[in-house]
Amino acid sequence: MLCPKCKRLMRPEAASKRWVCSACGTSTKMGGGGVVTHSEPKAKQMTVISEKIATNPTAKEECPKCGNDTAFWVLRQTRGADEPETRIFECTKCGNKWREYQ
Ligand SMILES: [Zn+2]
Ligand SMILES: [Zn+2]
Repeated sequence: MLCPKCKRLMRPEAASKRWVCSACGTSTKMGGGGVVTHSEPKAKQMTVISEKIATNPTAKEECPKCGNDTAFWVLRQTRGADEPETRIFECTKCGNKWREYQ
């Protein structure tokens, strides 16, 4: 740590958590202040979403919105125990979601 004023070596002063220059008396705060390191690349959200969808099985279902003939599907358990599970479709092309009626 060099003194910003006279460029001489500063010494750490534990009591006040500061760097103190013995030549001119200039002091700077330890840690935080000078060095700034925050350049971590952020994870791309879009990649995460598409990976999640890709794990679902696909079925030959026509999308009511865009007419695409392939859709992902997941089973969604309904509340009533005597009711059958419902398949939720999601268009592979436009992302439109709809449920299968039985
Ligand atoms: Zn100094
Ligand atoms: Zn669609």
